[in-house]
Amino acid sequence: MFSIIRKYIAENTGILIRLDDIAENMNWDLMEKSESLFEKYGIKPVLGVVPCNKDSELLSYPKKNNFWEQIRIWKNKGWEITMHGYTHVYDKISKNEDYFGYGGGSEFCGHPLETQISRIKNGLQKFEEEKIKIRSFFAPNHTYDQNTFLALKNFGIKEIIDGYGLMPYTENDIKFIPQLFYKVFALPFGIQATQIHLNYWKQKDFYDFEKFIEKNSKKIITYDQALKKVNNNSLYKLIKVLTKIILKIKRSIKR
Ligand SMILES: [Zn+2]
Repeated sequence: MFSIIRKYIAENTGILIRLDDIAENMNWDLMEKSESLFEKYGIKPVLGVVPCNKDSELLSYPKKNNFWEQIRIWKNKGWEITMHGYTHVYDKISKNEDYFGYGGGSEFCGHPLETQISRIKNGLQKFEEEKIKIRSFFAPNHTYDQNTFLALKNFGIKEIIDGYGLMPYTENDIKFIPQLFYKVFALPFGIQATQIHLNYWKQKDFYDFEKFIEKNSKKIITYDQALKKVNNNSLYKLIKVLTKIILKIKRSIKR
């Protein structure tokens, strides 16, 4: 009996390494270090690439000229390239009416469907010009509404790396891979994506990340492995609702 439980837990526990804000301007020093680390442990992360970065904060980082060539090299290594917004500029404030109830700045939530369609279209067009096929998306600051989903589906994008719960799930005909914590964290059970902002990291954060990878390298999964874990059973649905409530309370206390 215990061996069955152990096997179930092992098969349903995994960390997907998601790096956010991958753009021409970013902390390239830590990106190079991360690449060596991923190579060492055979990790294939998901890179959230901003196709046409106009975010002034992100633009303050050093620029790489052969950026798209670098993205193709990573893609050829089997790393997953996902679209992270279009310009990454927040031009709406969501007062918690966004789909996941995060609130705060948004590039998508609150905009008319036509605006969202045009942003998704322009972003995808950039990837197409650069010969990079995109199948998934995650919005800057976790903020989506129903129009975001419609706009994405309009272009055949039906996978989002965001959401609550302990297992990937389907909702609105879209597959969601949960992303619960700001800090890199290994849960004893469940499939989770990280959110890593190298731009905000100091050397010490990278050192901690190295230790984390060293300790948890066997739990780190690929994007396709995460997708295979989509599970819509009612227990996981309940857990999803509970994690949403808990994390929303936690965020409201912090404010
Ligand atoms: Zn971002």
